[in-house]
Amino acid sequence: MTLNVVKGKFQWAKVTKKEQLTEDLWKMWLKPENKFDYKPGQYCTIGSGGIERAYSIASSPEEEQIELFIELVPPPDGNLTPLLNDLQVGDTVTMRLRAKGIFVIKPGFKNHVMVGTVTGIAPYVSMLRKHLKEEEFSNCNFYVLEGASYLDEFGYDEELSKFANNDNVVFETSISRPGEERNSTWSGFEGRVNNILEERLKEWGVNPKDTIVYACGHPGMIEDVNERLEDSEYTFLEERFWKD
Ligand SMILES: Cc1cc2nc3c(=O)[nH]c(=O)nc-3n(C[C@H](O)[C@H](O)[C@H](O)COP(=O)(O)OP(=O)(O)OC[C@H]3O[C@@H](n4cnc5c(N)ncnc54)[C@H](O)[C@@H]3O)c2cc1C
Repeated sequence: MTLNVVKGKFQWAKVTKKEQLTEDLWKMWLKPENKFDYKPGQYCTIGSGGIERAYSIASSPEEEQIELFIELVPPPDGNLTPLLNDLQVGDTVTMRLRAKGIFVIKPGFKNHVMVGTVTGIAPYVSMLRKHLKEEEFSNCNFYVLEGASYLDEFGYDEELSKFANNDNVVFETSISRPGEERNSTWSGFEGRVNNILEERLKEWGVNPKDTIVYACGHPGMIEDVNERLEDSEYTFLEERFWKD
């Protein structure tokens, strides 16, 4: 199947920068032909070789380029990511003209708990880049809890740690494979984020009625968080990156 770049539906976007984090994880910046409007937390749909997929946007809407955080799903399962992985600066992808998604910040809560696995951190980076500066959210608290298998998969830890210099931002990470050589220097939390979330919520002392919990990324993590919070007064919002 070839994808026609039909005027009115798609535009071209040029790869302007690529930053490889690990063998199968990279950040990629795109410059679309036209201005691309979106809300923090929304996703864009990009394509190559006739295949299109959704990617949460890590940049803030004021930024000129669209920043994405992408994980390779190797063939035979992965279709688009092997193609995206081969792209070089100067290459182009198609981009649907409209951003989509309802995984955006919900005002009206005192506490915003953001749980993500690996690339599932992207929408929170966008939200924090934009909303931390806004008066509307100046009295809110943000708790970011990120999980990964390996310590080198926390793509935004420097930036999020800087945000956490603010009194109202907490950033915590946990790795799920502490016994492996690649994690030998790790000294932080251990275990899957869904397994430690309840303990962290207790530690932070947030009142469930005033708290929204966002979960993004791995469907297994989301399913489990959903079940754990089911009978509570927490409000829950999710973005699943694939189907289990
Ligand atoms: C709203 C939304 C936002 C998304 N944002 C991001 C993002 O910011 N970064 C990102 O890397 N991906 C994101 N994804 C996933 C992305 O759309 C693709 O599904 C993914 O990049 C794999 O594409 P593919 O064509 O290579 O593999 P596909 O042809 O889509 O097949 C992948 C198959 O492998 C399995 N799988 C294992 N690991 C993954 C994985 N990490 N992602 C997807 N499937 C997996 C699934 O069972 C799936 O059926 C998002 C998905 C949605 C719905």
